[in-house]
Amino acid sequence: MKESFLHYIWQNGFFDQHDLTTNQSNQLLIRYKGLLNSDAGPDFLNAQILIDDILWAGHVEIHKQASDWYAHGHEKDPAYDNVILHVVYEDNMPVYNSHNQQIPTLELSKYIDKKVLKTYQKLFETQAFLPCQHAIDKIDAFTLTNFKQRLFIERLEDKYQNIKNLLVETKNDWHQIFYQTLLKYTGGSVNKEAFELIGRLLPHKIFIKYKDDLPRLEALLFGVAGLLNDDKNDDYYRTLQKEYRFLKNKHHLDELPPGGIKFHRLRPSNFPTIRLAQFARIYHETAHLFEQLLELNSIEQAVEILSVTASDYWDTHYNFDKITKHKKKATGKDFVNLILINVVIPIKFAYQQHLGDYDNDKLIELIEKLPAEKNKIIKIYRDINLPAKNALDTQAFIQLNKNYCIQNKCLSCDIGHAILKQGL
Ligand code: SF4
Repeated sequence: MKESFLHYIWQNGFFDQHDLTTNQSNQLLIRYKGLLNSDAGPDFLNAQILIDDILWAGHVEIHKQASDWYAHGHEKDPAYDNVILHVVYEDNMPVYNSHNQQIPTLELSKYIDKKVLKTYQKLFETQAFLPCQHAIDKIDAFTLTNFKQRLFIERLEDKYQNIKNLLVETKNDWHQIFYQTLLKYTGGSVNKEAFELIGRLLPHKIFIKYKDDLPRLEALLFGVAGLLNDDKNDDYYRTLQKEYRFLKNKHHLDELPPGGIKFHRLRPSNFPTIRLAQFARIYHETAHLFEQLLELNSIEQAVEILSVTASDYWDTHYNFDKITKHKKKATGKDFVNLILINVVIPIKFAYQQHLGDYDNDKLIELIEKLPAEKNKIIKIYRDINLPAKNALDTQAFIQLNKNYCIQNKCLSCDIGHAILKQGL
């Protein structure tokens, strides 16, 4: 049994609280269990208890065995002098504080809800990766819906922490953060980091100066990506190369190292060349891109802004210097959904948090309209009968996996809590 389980039992009151007696034979009545302390010091702070009708206010310390008090050196630590109750699973010895005063002990094993204990053992003594899988289909829809929404917001809060770091780095330049993040996700899973680096090497302030000149936008992106350093017998390539050399000099630009951009194992429609050309077109086509995406409230508006085709040269190319069959290289629905989920919604959330002007319901409404993502994590939950209906579910499951299941935090998870509470 983990000590965190005893914290959980105490906090949630999963023990018979009538007729409690300390192991020193005094009547005990709990008025307030105290506030869980996640820092150093006693486990629950500022509790209130009545011992033989005398009110005590102070802290509660919890251990599996009473002797852990000494194993942790609390008898010498003045931070524990204000402990008014020692809650233990097994009372194997009396304990004293640094003033040599005995601490009243409550032996929880006498009062613990046996059904909760049995369910806990079932939950934690299984070898299954997801120990709740036997009971997942018995969790009511209301609990699941609320939990998924909470997980989704938690995920956005985590992303906001990264954005806060970017705000410091960019001196509050939201346009730069948006541009850099949009570039990152335009790169797809293979070129995510490389594209993000392009966004740092080619600042938004420089890029946006050439907004009305599509070939120059392409020259800047391809040049900084390190894709214009060869000799090629291709007029468009040479034009971009010439433009880039001029702009590089003018703005003192650096480039990605050779091999920074990868083509390997990518479908031609996802080649970084096509992605960069589409990115250039998005900025070229839309005035006030950041503001427009920040204010959108429907998928249709996002489709209107983000559905673009790469410039004409790319109709017959996937790479420089190699002519292919004519095909317009348009960003598709999947791209729009990806950008909404990973760029627009997180940045909208962060911006609202920054301004103190929250509207989480609108964000929930928007993401619920987007289709479920497909990845290994989503499959894990689908296989235990927890299918994802939409992108809110998939974002929630990613958060659940990363911050709860992998870390065995079933006691902090609403699914684990429902299982323990209902003895499933
Ligand atoms: S954290 Fe929640 S969902 Fe994950 S295994 Fe534990 S109870 Fe199940």
